[in-house]
Amino acid sequence: MTNKGTNLDPWYDSYADRTAGLSASEVRALFAVASRPEVVSLAGGMPFVSALPRELVTGSIDRVMSNGGGAMALQYGSGQGTPAIREHIMQIMAMEGIRGSADDVVVTTGSQQALDLVTRLFINPGDVILAESPSYVGALGVFKAYQADVEHVAMDDEGLIPEALREAIASVTSRGGRIKFLYTIPNFHNPAGVTLSWARRLEILEICRSAGILVLEDNPYGLLSFDEPAPHAMRSVDDEGVIYLGSFSKTLAPGFRVGWALAPHAIREKLILANESATLSPNSFGQFVITEYLDQADWRGQIDIFRGLYRERRDAMLSALGEYLPSLTWTRPEGGFFVWLSLPDELDSKAMLPRAVKELVAYTPGTAFYADGQGRQNIRLSFCYPTPESIRVGVARLATVINGELDL
Ligand code: PMP
Repeated sequence: MTNKGTNLDPWYDSYADRTAGLSASEVRALFAVASRPEVVSLAGGMPFVSALPRELVTGSIDRVMSNGGGAMALQYGSGQGTPAIREHIMQIMAMEGIRGSADDVVVTTGSQQALDLVTRLFINPGDVILAESPSYVGALGVFKAYQADVEHVAMDDEGLIPEALREAIASVTSRGGRIKFLYTIPNFHNPAGVTLSWARRLEILEICRSAGILVLEDNPYGLLSFDEPAPHAMRSVDDEGVIYLGSFSKTLAPGFRVGWALAPHAIREKLILANESATLSPNSFGQFVITEYLDQADWRGQIDIFRGLYRERRDAMLSALGEYLPSLTWTRPEGGFFVWLSLPDELDSKAMLPRAVKELVAYTPGTAFYADGQGRQNIRLSFCYPTPESIRVGVARLATVINGELDL
């Protein structure tokens, strides 16, 4: 008997086995409470889209619509995405050292859908995916839905640890497991907030190449560095063994639902077929508006505005943590949205969440970011959405909860 649903559901016996992996987030109900305005939410990863000037978007929409009444933008399009946006995407990726052909780009419904398509292409039930420890909750959900076994690989402040990767490959292989790919978020990791060093990127690519393991490089935050640019993408030095995923969600707005995959040439055709079977074509209107925006607006300047804004919020969070929770440890992100906080052993981040919500602060418990129940000693704090003042208030409230649990 699989755990497909409750037996109050008349279709209980009809669901496919793979739906056993579709579990509602255990913290979803609490997050509904946490969306009340008096609660400071350090939980979600919502980009601060209010910093996007309205006229930049409306101007692009107007121009799209005044071109033949928007006839093409309102129509179905190519399953691969429009040639114009794919050319822009090549230019964006060139900022991270990637060279290649727009013909190998496949536009998707957010990079989330690219994660789904790649997993659909490669995973049979029981296949193994290597992923950082911790890893992105949305990717783990996809992997589970395709009945993959996730093997977590340890990280430290420089990202994924090559030696731990070698050990994980040896251990999975020795028990007869079939590793299909390594899923990694090298820049400004969600949730860990760390960045993979350049030396390690090269070493990890070499390990995967010699073990015949594909790398799935997920990079939605790469352009959101606070000081130094992030190291070049892994894809910039390996065209054959890396599928690179990018997105407009964090550098423009997630509401467009436009992301992409740059696949090795050999994989591209299957990816397009999978994309067509899933959605016929990615969001035409979104692609046209974004193309217009990239043609006309100062999009690089807009990314700089986002970077400055998130830097200020990161600073607010780090200084509040230093002030209110000096005995704990946390990561110091150089870009992106997230700080990863470690709790003393006797605390349980999941059990503590209802208390936190009562104190009017919300966070994401570390357990969301593991496929195997780890994470009770960790918390992901997002600094992307609340103002610096709210972040300070939120961290102060969190300190009250933590100190209360520790009986200080
Ligand atoms: N990968 C990572 C690491 C993410 O954090 C997110 C968004 N939270 C995504 C992929 C998906 O983003 P989107 O579908 O909006 O491109």
